[in-house]
Formats: sequence, C-alpha cells, structure tokens
Amino acid sequence: MHYEFTVSTKSSEELIDITNNVEEVVQKSDTREGVCIVYIPHATAGIILNESADPNIKRDFLSALDRVIPRHAGYLHDRIDNNAHAHIKSAIVGSSVTIPLSDGHLGLGTWQAVMLCEFDGPRSRRRVVIKIIPASA
Ligand code: ZN
Repeated sequence: MHYEFTVSTKSSEELIDITNNVEEVVQKSDTREGVCIVYIPHATAGIILNESADPNIKRDFLSALDRVIPRHAGYLHDRIDNNAHAHIKSAIVGSSVTIPLSDGHLGLGTWQAVMLCEFDGPRSRRRVVIKIIPASA
C-alpha cells in the first residue's frame, strides 16, 4: 500500500518529528503486523529515527554533522547551486527507515521518533512516501 504526505520546512536545516503523520497512515492502512517503510524522494533531505523529546538532540545532531561536513569547503557542486553539503548530509543520513508494525502500531522504541532531516530549506513541499507491507499470514 502506497501513501504520501507533504511537509513544509522553515529553516535551512532542521529536524521535524513526523511520527504522528506516519502513525496516522498506519492507522488508515488497518494493518496489524508487517513493516512500514518511510522514504523521502529528495536529494538534500533525509529520514532518521532518533530522540525528539529533548530538542537539544536535534541541534546537537545538526551541529555534529556540520563539523564533519561543513557548509562551504570548496565543493565542486557549489558552482552550480551552492548546496553540496546538503547532498552529502542527505546521502550519509539516508533516504529511508524501516519500522516493524506491532499490533497495528509503529513498533518504535520509547525514545525513538521518525524525523525528517531538512538540509537545504526552507522548502514548501517535501514529499514523504510511506509503503506498508503487511506480513503474510
Ligand atoms: Zn544541488
């Protein structure tokens, strides 16, 4: 089953908790057991699972990535659209996560949230694609 929703981002870089949006899709699908794939079809954004309760984790995550992949480091792609760092961060973070479904809900750990990673915002329309694969009986 294929589902999709969009998220608008407000900063050049930010993490947005989309757990509730994904859980809502799981509810709509009426699937008890299986897996849920959350995928973002963009080259300068990503999807991660991590803690969202303490907002400082989001800031720490972005600043740690920035230390490893600085915004300007003489990237060749910056001659075209000045966002090479966002492409590299997106590739390292990854474009999807797979979450087991348990009893009709996302089987996340207590401190896990699904987060969209914006690396080249703000963007009015980031697509998030959800595939729900029911377990075969
Ligand atoms: Zn680019």
